[in-house]
Amino acid sequence: MSDPRTLVGHGVSPGIAIGKPVIVENRPLPVMRVPLSAGQIEAEVARLRAAAKRAAKHLFGLAKGAAKTVGAEYASIFEAHRLMLEDPALLDEVERLIRAEAVNAEWALEQVTHRLLGQFQKLGDVYLRERQTDVLDVAAQLQRSLQGRKGPGLGHSTELGILVADDIPPSQALQLASRGVSAFASESGGITSHTTIIAKSLEIPAVVGVAGLVAAVEKARLLIVDGFEGHILVDPDPALIQVYSLRAEEHRRRQQEMLGLAHLPAKTLDGHAITLLANIDLVHEIAAAKAAGAEGIGLFRSEFLFLQASPALPDEEEQEAAYAALIEAFPDGPVTIRTFDLGGKKLAREVLGAPEANPVMGLRGVRLCLQKPDFFRTQLRALLRAGGRGPGTLRVMVPLIGHVEEVKTVRVLLARFSQELRSEGHAVPARVLVGAMIEVPAAAMIAEHLAREVDFFALGTNDLTQYTLAVDRGNEQVSSLFRPFHPAVLRLVETVISTGDRFGIPVSLCGEMAADPLAVPVLVGLGLREFSMHPPALPVVRSLIRALTFREARRIAHKALSFASAKAVEEYLLEQLSGLLSHLKVRIRL
Ligand code: PEP
Ligand code: MG
Repeated sequence: MSDPRTLVGHGVSPGIAIGKPVIVENRPLPVMRVPLSAGQIEAEVARLRAAAKRAAKHLFGLAKGAAKTVGAEYASIFEAHRLMLEDPALLDEVERLIRAEAVNAEWALEQVTHRLLGQFQKLGDVYLRERQTDVLDVAAQLQRSLQGRKGPGLGHSTELGILVADDIPPSQALQLASRGVSAFASESGGITSHTTIIAKSLEIPAVVGVAGLVAAVEKARLLIVDGFEGHILVDPDPALIQVYSLRAEEHRRRQQEMLGLAHLPAKTLDGHAITLLANIDLVHEIAAAKAAGAEGIGLFRSEFLFLQASPALPDEEEQEAAYAALIEAFPDGPVTIRTFDLGGKKLAREVLGAPEANPVMGLRGVRLCLQKPDFFRTQLRALLRAGGRGPGTLRVMVPLIGHVEEVKTVRVLLARFSQELRSEGHAVPARVLVGAMIEVPAAAMIAEHLAREVDFFALGTNDLTQYTLAVDRGNEQVSSLFRPFHPAVLRLVETVISTGDRFGIPVSLCGEMAADPLAVPVLVGLGLREFSMHPPALPVVRSLIRALTFREARRIAHKALSFASAKAVEEYLLEQLSGLLSHLKVRIRL
């Protein structure tokens, strides 16, 4: 067995995959303005035309492949894009600008694209506005071709291997996951980025934050992705492939074994009961949630309906059907549907207006919904209609709350739409439970005021950590600073749980922290009663809860709150848990 080249990143979704790399470069390169001399212009125009030809050929290949594998509907998208490339509105206009301003093709293309988008935005027609996405896609294809980069056209591939990319946006992760990609490896990303969350939910091994990945595997024929250790092995020999195949098999076996515990109650040794709920992004994950013993849904990320349907918007009936499916699947447990959390890094060009310089601090979550009344109305009406079908308890959860007025407005809107639906003859629930996600430090600090306005709290520790520590949760350059066990985050979590207790409203936690074995004793000890996580993590958390006493958990939580740094808290928890974890054969990494 010879040592292969090993690239190191963060293993964020456990498991092992062995396969061929499929390389994609998603990150746009900055486009510079390069002035040309008169003598360079013809060559630049020729370069543009050649790049357009290459892009058209690429799109033709995609259309042909898609027709064979995923159907004519997809093929027609690529075909339409190919035709757009030939449209004088784009290419001739770029050429005109190259000549008129004596500038490089990339710059001219960017200017023309912006102008076209501006014209589209002025059109009231929804169909035409949605065509913006097509313009952007076609322009991106052409830009990549000009820059000699690899495009994302994976739709035609019959055998998707390991997706290797500089950056994997959530919408692409979702699309490719449903087409059978076997692992994700990327240069960007962090432990709580949305692509990581999708990988974990769908049990796709993932390694993120690998510097220089795309260039390093450009010529590789085979990769092993080790999502436990965060390693990517390049062109391993047969002996090593065998070792890793055995490890993959062992992991699958253990997962199966763990699922066997799904029916056991999540109770501590001294009888303190915890409710275990599932976080799901897609309706078809209901089966996995049930198999893992979830008692209900603690977080349905409804925006994924949108990202999946993009560029079309899911209409009221489509949304109602999805929400009703969840409520029907869990008639006895809570079903918590989060209103669209678009914006930030989950871009939805169809809903957002202009691009933002700092989107994570921008028009995101409830802020976006309140600024787009028609869009929000469709979702709230769909939720009420689904809730009206009963049985089951519908909980409407609102993301990124920072102000009391935001929840008040959502309540007013729900009351108005209930009235509207009733007058149209639809059944609506007598009462809708409305909850605030606590993801912004300000919300945690005014928890006692919010508690008077809502029926429950849901701690979103992914964003709460990001905003408390000022660390972008998806930026690999600062991922070592993303520490949910930082004393500041722990204190905010403690405040929210104790405030919920005081006001008699349930508090759940649906950030990735809920699934972290190290966090279980602290959270149980702080009095958290509802844990919500991606279904594959439920069995381990259940086992840990069953191995603890509440008394012990309280002692651990009390001590954990006394440390000055995240490192000290983590070390303490690791020491407290190491015996327990090895007994349960749970592997964790710090
Ligand atoms: C969170 O922020 O913790 C959360 C659960 O929401 P999301 O990860 O979708 O932002
Ligand atoms: Mg969040």
